[in-house]
Amino acid sequence: MTDIRKVSGQRIRVGGTRVPSQITPVSTSPVQKQKAGVSGAPAMKWRVTMVIDPTLCDGHGVCAELFPERIEMDRWGYPLIDGDDIPPGLTDHARRAVTSCPRLALHLVERRQ
Ligand code: SF4
Repeated sequence: MTDIRKVSGQRIRVGGTRVPSQITPVSTSPVQKQKAGVSGAPAMKWRVTMVIDPTLCDGHGVCAELFPERIEMDRWGYPLIDGDDIPPGLTDHARRAVTSCPRLALHLVERRQ
């Protein structure tokens, strides 16, 4: 019979082995720990912005349809990108626009503040 005890809310198998179903994945990377705010240091703030390589863009307009919050078309049909930070609530839309660009002209840039 396996001896399992509860120690501070976690089930521990005697002998030091954790019960697999009770293991909570925790990042060991210092950068990920800092991002998550678990290292004791203040959580890093990240800024996400969108950039375009105008030499690749063909003016298809897909991006403006998928991310109208930050992209509008100029009178020639090329995108005008708002360079402000993209809030977390809009990053899914931004990623969809980036991955849908047929010319791979859009990129998201993540910078530490
Ligand atoms: S989807 Fe890509 S190629 Fe089309 S307008 Fe936007 S950036 Fe340009």
